[in-house]
Amino acid sequence: MTEVIPGIYQLRLPIPETSLGYVNVYLVQGDNGYLLVDAGWNTKAVFDSLQNQLAEIGVGFEDIAQVVITHIHPDHYGLAGRLKSLSGAKIIFHHLEKELIESRYVRMDELLRQMGQWLHTNGVPANNLPELQTASVRMAKYVIPVTPDVTLYGGETVSTGCFSFQVLFTSGHSPGHISLYEPNRKILISGDHILPTITTYIGLHPQSGDNPLGKYINSLKAIEQLDVNLVLPGHENPFTALRARIGELIQHHKQRNEEILQAIKTKQKTAYQIATEITWMPNKSGTNFYNLAPFDKRLAIFETIAHLESMRVDGRVSKLAKDGIIYYQSG
Ligand SMILES: [Zn+2]
Ligand SMILES: [Zn+2]
Repeated sequence: MTEVIPGIYQLRLPIPETSLGYVNVYLVQGDNGYLLVDAGWNTKAVFDSLQNQLAEIGVGFEDIAQVVITHIHPDHYGLAGRLKSLSGAKIIFHHLEKELIESRYVRMDELLRQMGQWLHTNGVPANNLPELQTASVRMAKYVIPVTPDVTLYGGETVSTGCFSFQVLFTSGHSPGHISLYEPNRKILISGDHILPTITTYIGLHPQSGDNPLGKYINSLKAIEQLDVNLVLPGHENPFTALRARIGELIQHHKQRNEEILQAIKTKQKTAYQIATEITWMPNKSGTNFYNLAPFDKRLAIFETIAHLESMRVDGRVSKLAKDGIIYYQSG
């Protein structure tokens, strides 16, 4: 637990089963109860960690009046349902995230079917398909779903004590991802939208909506206009150089576009074929697609599709369907 500025605490909660290590949730002091931004996975270890870190500040669950969820991925939303029943806090998140709860965490059969179809359409061979199709099923146990008491659209204000946060609709990583901006303190709570060294995952899949990468780049450019002194991200450490980081991210996605264009320069290919030919996790000395775990393979394919579709919208790539399979070509 760290008090990053007077009245705002960063709590680090462990994340099982991933390389991310931990998620940051932020506790903001208020006059009539505290505001918590994000919630952590639903496991006993994470719950205990949250309870202990709150106790260090002298806060119990009953002192939390509002819980804002940046997006409904398990590391940010998992404990939200439990926090609701323990604290009675108002749960607050974007309506586009609310629409995904049922299919993602309650009745998953239809999403599984769509996932299988989507992977097949994008060229995944039949023998690889089952393990990719079911790669995220185990995540559902880390989430106790809850619907929001306050549904956001972007542009609202969430206040607590002397802090007044503007809700920014920062779609891309998840369709209804939001960030919180405090203009007087010049603070941005960025969720997974902008992280200091990890490149945020942007994928196109049955629940992502159209062109998530285009939306992501647009929301980065909107955030670039803000006056921000300190960014409080969902993972890694708080940082200051927001504009430089946005510049790096835009440049990164441009380079990925070029790499993908190169792969389809002379031959039309499926998103799966392209994903097998480009480098993954370049920071870790260029990992080959085939060495990735099934879940990461799926992320790689969806990320490739996100790039292809954003270039298609920009007129740099076209696609055609043959026997129910989609192929992309340059031009
Ligand atoms: Zn996320
Ligand atoms: Zn996250």
